[in-house]
Amino acid sequence: MLYRKVPKTGDELSILGFGCMRLPSRTEGGIDEERAIRQIRSVIDAGVNYVDTAPAYHMGKSEKILARALADGYRERVRIATKLPPWSVHARQDMDRILDAQLATLATDRIDYYLLHSLGRASWERMRALGVTGFLDTAKRDGRIRNTGFSFHGNPAAFREIVDAYDWDFCQIQYNYLDEQNQAGTAGLRYAAERGLAVMVMEPLRGGNLAGAVPDPVRALWETAPARRTPAEWALRWIWDHPEVTVVLSGMNDEAHIAENLRVADEGLPHSLSEEELALVERVRETYHALMKVGCTGCGYCLPCPAGVDIPGCFSSYNDYHLFPGDRRITRFAYLGRHGGLMAGVSHAGLCKGCGACERRCPQSLAIRDRLGEVSREMGGPMLRAVPLLKAGLRCWSWAGRARRRVLRTRADA
Ligand code: SF4
Ligand code: SF4
Repeated sequence: MLYRKVPKTGDELSILGFGCMRLPSRTEGGIDEERAIRQIRSVIDAGVNYVDTAPAYHMGKSEKILARALADGYRERVRIATKLPPWSVHARQDMDRILDAQLATLATDRIDYYLLHSLGRASWERMRALGVTGFLDTAKRDGRIRNTGFSFHGNPAAFREIVDAYDWDFCQIQYNYLDEQNQAGTAGLRYAAERGLAVMVMEPLRGGNLAGAVPDPVRALWETAPARRTPAEWALRWIWDHPEVTVVLSGMNDEAHIAENLRVADEGLPHSLSEEELALVERVRETYHALMKVGCTGCGYCLPCPAGVDIPGCFSSYNDYHLFPGDRRITRFAYLGRHGGLMAGVSHAGLCKGCGACERRCPQSLAIRDRLGEVSREMGGPMLRAVPLLKAGLRCWSWAGRARRRVLRTRADA
């Protein structure tokens, strides 16, 4: 295992982190907890020292399973990263309540790396207005949090604003060879690193889509390489080739994938790919882009939209929807989460008023209004109208959980 340093603290983290978002499932449904625990312990035994979870993963079960995996001395061998869900925060006191509950769930007295989950501009501004920076300062001072950060799913301008708005130790971005100009992108990666932030990378394989059953033209290109590597290996090596990257989080839930990732992590040095190999990745990227529905580069020149549409974000979801048909339900849910108001502000394609301002600024001369109409028809619809109901359901679920815990505590005290 190779390790890289967190610039502000010198903390040495394994370049491969274990993501607890996609734990293994049983054939009859539900998480295979014993297998998940074996997997987590096996990667720690192999040198992984960074594990990432969140209350939102597996409807709250991920943190609980991680706590079980980290019993018997494993806790002291890893840094725990978990997240504050902005969509569950309605007042300043919610932040302390949620963090204290996480410490109890994870059976620990500190969270080593604590993130605000899935920020975009709107959720950041809302959290800031609720006093999140004061909360982070206090929790760091009293030792409940060691390092503060945020995970991000927004546009490049919002990323820079958030990086500059607080003294973060780290951030977590979606990054892979298809996302060079999407969300934070390569410019964001460099911007954060230049300001001393450690950068954790999520979705290195785009939810597994850059590995496994890749499109035939992509497979044919990989087969031209003198080095025999799997598509997953190419994708991981490309990320670790960037010296600005600290940890790559992989949601490994299959023993063969874990073994492969650990093997590749032994070779993930910065600047270790040759010019020819980087050129091949570039050709693979171009091939993927040629297969995409909308030729949006994610540059963001069309923004801001007066109606609040996240134009590149909507196109990115739409491209994923068509490029990876096996994952359509997940892509649609992510679209609702990020643009429909479920996890962040409302910025979906259906908000477009047709003013045309964006088209005058788009260097790709895209017919943005027409294409947003397609996005809205295929990905919006009745599900968007159900978002307020879904949010109310989530609030009830979280209220019921709190009430149940209060009853259990009262009984235990009695
Ligand atoms: S045409 Fe639609 S998406 Fe473009 S700026 Fe106007 S409202 Fe926004
Ligand atoms: S300006 Fe055009 S290419 Fe750039 S993000 Fe907007 S729609 Fe995409």
